[in-house]
Parts: sequence; C-alpha cells; structure tokens
Amino acid sequence: MRTSIYPGSFDPITYGHIDIIDRASKITDKLIVAVLNNDEKKSLFTMEERIEMIKDAVKDYKNVEVESFGGLLVDYVKEKGANIIIRGLRAVTDFEYELQLAQTNRELYKDIDTIFMLTNLQYSYLSSSIVKQVASYKGDISKFVTPFVAKKLGQKYGNIV
Ligand code: ADP
Repeated sequence: MRTSIYPGSFDPITYGHIDIIDRASKITDKLIVAVLNNDEKKSLFTMEERIEMIKDAVKDYKNVEVESFGGLLVDYVKEKGANIIIRGLRAVTDFEYELQLAQTNRELYKDIDTIFMLTNLQYSYLSSSIVKQVASYKGDISKFVTPFVAKKLGQKYGNIV
C-alpha cells in the first residue's frame, strides 16, 4: 500500500490545492493532506477551521484523509509509513525553495521522494494569500475557493453575517 503526504498551510484551501489533491489521489493508494501546525507562520484560520474546510472539499474522495502535523515533516512521514511527499509547483519562483526543501528532506530520510505536480494553468496565479487579500476587500472569490470556504472567508472579514 502506497501512502503519500501532501503537506501545507492551507490557509485556506483553494481550487489550486484541490486540483493537486485530485490528481495526486489517482497515483497513490492513500493520500494524507497534512496541515502544518506552525506557530511562526501567522494563519488567518485556526487548525480546526482549516481542517474543516479541507474535509468539506475532499469529502467525495475515498482515499484522502486530512490531519494536522507539527515538527519535522520527515518524522511525520515516517510515522505514517509513507515515503512520498506531494508538492505543487506554480512558477519558477516556487522552484528554488521547493528544491531546497526536497533535498533537505531526502538528506534527513533517504527513503523519501518528493513528487512535484505542475499546477493546472488555470490556477497558476492562485495562492491562499491572494485569495485572502481579495476577500479582505470584499472581492468576488467564487472562482478561487469552494462555496464553503468563501462563506468562511466572508465571516472572517465581516462580509457575511
Ligand atoms: P506552504 O505554506 O507550505 O507553501 P500552501 O498551503 O501554500 O503551503 O501550499 C501547499 C502546497 O500546495 C505547496 O506545494 C504549494 O506549492 C501548492 N500550491 C499552492 N497553491 C497552488 C496552486 N494554485 N496550484 C498548484 N499548487 C499549489
């Protein structure tokens, strides 16, 4: 059984992330979407909220699970008996950091491989931060996130009662 981990902040999950989840779920037996619990990175949504939004978005996928993790990603990957990390690549700007991360992880745990999935062109501009910015100015975010996430963002920024 091949288990893969898709780690990230998912603050909040966007259609770009969902596209990666959709494609990754087809090349692995089990996919765990792992939400990083990182105090250094100030998030808009709590861990519980981020997990709730991802669970809602992936409810139709039988082989996708959602969990939180803290500490070193490689330790979490080992604990789960997984050996594949999935990451999405949007543009060249993502590449250098991702390369560094993947090589460090492999140095720490040689049985791990990182698989990069190229973003769907349709979502190549999309990031959680951009979505938050648009939502904060009450812009239309329906093309970027699920209706459930749009509602949650609306509540955060006081757009919806
Ligand atoms: P992080 O804080 O680790 O960058 P994110 O939640 O922003 O976490 O992203 C998690 C993963 O999803 C990363 O590999 C990122 O490159 C990828 N990703 C984010 N947005 C998109 C998108 N629009 N298309 C494809 N991949 C994406």
